[in-house]
Amino acid sequence: MNNRITIAKGDGIGPEIMDATLRIMQAAGVELEYDFIEIGEKVYHQGHKSGITPESWDLLRRNKIFLKAPITTPQGGGYKSLNVTIRKSLGLFSNVRPCRAYTPYVHSNFPKMDLCIVRENEEDLYAGIEHQQTAEVVQCLKLVSRPGSERIIRYAFEYARAYNRRKVTCMTKDNIMKHTDGLFHQLFDKIALEYPDIISEHRIIDIGAALLAERPEEFDVIVTLNLYGDIISDIAAQVAGSVGLGGSANIGQDFAMFEAIHGSAPDIAGKNIANPSGLLNAAIMMLVHIGETKAAEAIENAWLKTLEDGYHTGDIFQRETSFKKTSTEEFADEIIQRFGQLPLDLTPVKYAAGRSHINIKTSEPVPVTKQLEGVDIFLDWSEPGRNPAVLGKKLKSLTRSPLKLKMITNRGVKVYPDGLPETFCTDHWRCRFVANPGAAKNTEITHNDIITLMTELNERNFDCIKTENLYSIDGQRGYSLGQGE
Ligand code: NAD
Repeated sequence: MNNRITIAKGDGIGPEIMDATLRIMQAAGVELEYDFIEIGEKVYHQGHKSGITPESWDLLRRNKIFLKAPITTPQGGGYKSLNVTIRKSLGLFSNVRPCRAYTPYVHSNFPKMDLCIVRENEEDLYAGIEHQQTAEVVQCLKLVSRPGSERIIRYAFEYARAYNRRKVTCMTKDNIMKHTDGLFHQLFDKIALEYPDIISEHRIIDIGAALLAERPEEFDVIVTLNLYGDIISDIAAQVAGSVGLGGSANIGQDFAMFEAIHGSAPDIAGKNIANPSGLLNAAIMMLVHIGETKAAEAIENAWLKTLEDGYHTGDIFQRETSFKKTSTEEFADEIIQRFGQLPLDLTPVKYAAGRSHINIKTSEPVPVTKQLEGVDIFLDWSEPGRNPAVLGKKLKSLTRSPLKLKMITNRGVKVYPDGLPETFCTDHWRCRFVANPGAAKNTEITHNDIITLMTELNERNFDCIKTENLYSIDGQRGYSLGQGE
């Protein structure tokens, strides 16, 4: 493996904690060469909207492994999140966040907590496709793909095997989102069968998050979609008491980025008091990833022993358990002095050599049979009274296309036919057209039927803001019903 990695010292406390981390790695005998790049605030202000220059991109792509200190993202001004840009551009599909308690040295109510959240990193509502469609309604598209879900789920099971974990819990909200979250859950159940040595279970995300806050010791590896993963990662880190200590990895097929979970802490920058543990833990994950498992073990065990011996930076200093409040540099020195020692109370770590780089193969695309059987046309309509029956009558009178109105919903609730007068209606109407609204099953239609319908709507001055085709896929309905349909 190439032994050059890319390093960014970032903003705020970034340079201090990166210097401490690199010094510890060097003392542990890690033989890596570094290319330093500038990212973050200064680069944003030079006019690079993503906070990174093209030259730095070249280095990132060449070296493939990136250890990144936190950066400050300027507010306003159309700046893009550097993290999101890097994740998406380099295909870092998996966000891995171990959360462990270190009681009594770092306070947590759950001393046995030791879990890892594996979060899908590229899709879901974070695809960033948002539109304002009417005066009152904005939308964000939730995209969930079969290959994207499959590889994150496989990654979670492979991670569990590589790191001697016993259970993988999938969290979704598929009781409501039957197609998007439903696909994720369905793939989880299928892939779990390939890993009989690992226990698998599914929880609805709301109760799952509640249990995570109340009984985190029951969880081991959790795999979930992007937004839920973002939220529960912070819950888990908070509950473990280790927000300032946690590292995270963003892993793709060829590239990987490692960083602390905290930000650039501008309030304490330049004071030599920041805790370098978050970035150090990220660096340990990086060393395991690239196969430097001996150094990773030596550093992590020395770090655990330092915590045990009570050498603590100000953020985790407690009168009862701490021995000395250290600066960033002193904390690094204490770790270096403990190389070769194991913690006595906290569980020491042991990494198996060579098992850490997880390769995930995405299965070949499976052809499906798609049948077009209708269209949902979204209208911006706000005639006085906003009476669904009035809109329904107008749409029923369209004659030119074989497609006929089946129902109208407003924010997903059926308001025509047979809606309730109590239902609140916005200016955003989803109107479903099929060839035979009375039939139990829809029949095939053509794209031309939709164009004819759209033309007639346009001639009658309807504002069509969007259309969604209704497909059946391999004979199964590929769209949701309206609430009350
Ligand atoms: P923050 O994590 O930087 O700070 C929150 C609090 O925790 C502060 O009181 C800070 O002093 C403390 N803290 C954080 N890290 C610490 C450490 N290592 N040692 C001791 N104390 C520490 O969060 P914030 O204040 O919301 O954000 C500050 C900046 O960081 C913002 O510009 C934000 O955009 C950025 N940020 C960057 C990343 C990243 O680069 N991955 C992540 C989160 C936030």
